[in-house]
Amino acid sequence: MKKKLIIAIDGPSGAGKSTLSKALAKRLDYLNIDTGAMYRSVALLAQQRGIDPHDGVALRALCDEMSIEFIRGDLSERVLVNGVDVSDAIRTPEVSLLTPQVSASPVVREAMVQLQQKMGAAGGVVLEGRDIGTVVFPYADVKFFLSATAAERGLRRYKELLAKGMDVELRQTIAEVEARDAADTARTFAPLMQADDAVAVDSTRLSIDDVLNKMLTIIEAKEAELTG
Ligand code: C5P
Repeated sequence: MKKKLIIAIDGPSGAGKSTLSKALAKRLDYLNIDTGAMYRSVALLAQQRGIDPHDGVALRALCDEMSIEFIRGDLSERVLVNGVDVSDAIRTPEVSLLTPQVSASPVVREAMVQLQQKMGAAGGVVLEGRDIGTVVFPYADVKFFLSATAAERGLRRYKELLAKGMDVELRQTIAEVEARDAADTARTFAPLMQADDAVAVDSTRLSIDDVLNKMLTIIEAKEAELTG
C-alpha cells in the first residue's frame, strides 16, 4: 500500500499555493489544509470583536474558544468558524491586510500550529502556508517553496478579486501583496522562509498544469521510495 505523505507547500501570497494544493489534494485523494484561511479567520474574528492585534491575552482567549472547520464540496471548499461560513468574509482586502498583524502574534501561532499538527499528523495531507516546512512539519515527506515575481502575484490576486466583483485597482493590489510579503518575512516568529530541503519552484512563466505535473513527479518518486 502507498504511504500517505505529509506534503508542505510554502511561499508568498499569490504564488499559486492555494490552486496547486487543492489540485494536488484532489489528484492524490488527500486532505487539503489552507493554513492561511486559519490565520485569516482569527483576524476576521478579532476585527469583528474590536480586539487589538497586539493584545496577546485577548487573542489567546479568542483562539481558545474558536472552532475552525473545512467543509469540502465538489466545487469549492468552505471555511466555518464557530459554525458560520466565513469563506468570502476572510478574503476581503481589509482582512488580508490585518492578517499579518494577527499572525505575527506568538500566541496565535502556537494555537494554530497545534491545530495544524493535529489535523495533519496521520498523513495524506497537503498543507499550504508560510512556515509549514520550517515549523509545523519540519519532517514533512515532501516540501515545496513556490514563488513568482511580485508583479505577477499582484496581477493574479487582482484578477481573483475582480472575478469576485470587488472594486480593486491593479497598482494598489500589487502594493498590498508586497506589503504583506514584507510583514510576513520580517516577523520574529516563524517568518516566511524557504526550508533548506524544500524544492523551489518559480511559477512566474509556468502554467498551473506545468507546475502541477512537476510537483506530482516529485511526489510520486517520494511515494515509490517510501513504499519501495
Ligand atoms: O495564504 P494567505 O494569503 O491566505 O495567508 C494570509 C496571511 O496569513 C499571510 O499573509 C500570513 O500573514 C498568514 N499566514 C501565516 N502562516 C501561514 C499561513 C498564512 O502567517 N502558515
